[in-house]
Amino acid sequence: MSTDHGRPMTNVLFAAPVSVWEAYEAPLRDAFAQKGLSVNLATDLPPEMVDYIIYAPQSGLRDFRPFTRAKAVLNLWAGVETIVGNETLTQPLTRMVDEGLTQGMVEYVTGHVLRHHLGMDIDLLRDTPSWEPRVPPLASERKVTILGLGILGAACATALSNLGFAVSGWARRAKSIEGVQSYGGEAGLVDALHGAEIVVLLLPLTDDTHHLVDSRTLALLAPGAFVINPGRGPLIDDQSLLEALDTGHVAHATLDVFATEPLPADHPYWAHPRVTVTPHIASHTRPKTSANVIAENIRRGEAGEPLLHLVDRGAGY
Ligand code: NAP
Repeated sequence: MSTDHGRPMTNVLFAAPVSVWEAYEAPLRDAFAQKGLSVNLATDLPPEMVDYIIYAPQSGLRDFRPFTRAKAVLNLWAGVETIVGNETLTQPLTRMVDEGLTQGMVEYVTGHVLRHHLGMDIDLLRDTPSWEPRVPPLASERKVTILGLGILGAACATALSNLGFAVSGWARRAKSIEGVQSYGGEAGLVDALHGAEIVVLLLPLTDDTHHLVDSRTLALLAPGAFVINPGRGPLIDDQSLLEALDTGHVAHATLDVFATEPLPADHPYWAHPRVTVTPHIASHTRPKTSANVIAENIRRGEAGEPLLHLVDRGAGY
């Protein structure tokens, strides 16, 4: 057992690529010290010694069976679709809820909603001079629907409502969010999408949400709608979206996430005039703020308190 001046230390394995370690090592050590935790933090530890695993799927770690005394796996990212179904993982799994990550997503979503709302692509990026006054509607006349009203969806819904948009949102269970018309369950999806002019996808990827956006759901949108997807690529059936873009039923799609990442060079999205591709940068976990969340969860685990942000393995998120 590792000790710190005779005190037992908590062994924490950082299972993530080197570049991530470089960004997180110092913030994590600071956060552990602030919590008064005595932690042996390393990128390589004998599995049977590990108490907690800070995890990114890019680490390649897939077999959790050798971690016989691990008390929890703390996912560094918000999405857990690559680990949630791992049958070798028997320990509790937490996902990342980080104020920096949330703020970044609010900025990405409000920026792209305003861009489409104001018609900036048409008005500001034209090639030739043209004086055709095209006054955009007010935000209050624009129905924006957010699919997914969790940590990120709710924050974006509130920000857009504060800007005056007519915001609707949809989740498994309807929510009570000031200024947001909330719908729940399968029946609520039609009402949430009906006539929406801008749709933002902030759902997790699960069996239930896979290809949720297809020709049937796209048909519910207002003609000339905009789709913004910072959730997960397979939420969208790409063929259906491409068809809707080609007919103009969807005027533009801003896509941050894809079924295959990096998006292959020959994928039709790259060349499509009505598609904006961003390379999975909508929002990242921020080392400083997320280190506090990880340290708090290890403190809780050591104190026998319930962990924050536990994943519901059955629901898949
Ligand atoms: P969250 O807090 O777990 O919220 C998920 C939301 O989706 C909840 O409102 C949940 O409903 C709803 N939901 C799940 N399954 C559903 C279903 N079958 N039908 C209807 N609603 C369903 O997750 P989050 O932190 O907001 O993150 C959302 C996703 O954003 C992540 O899973 C990840 O894929 C993505 N993300 C992307 C980036 C990026 O850079 N592009 C960064 C971070 C996260 P309930 O509230 O009723 O449970």
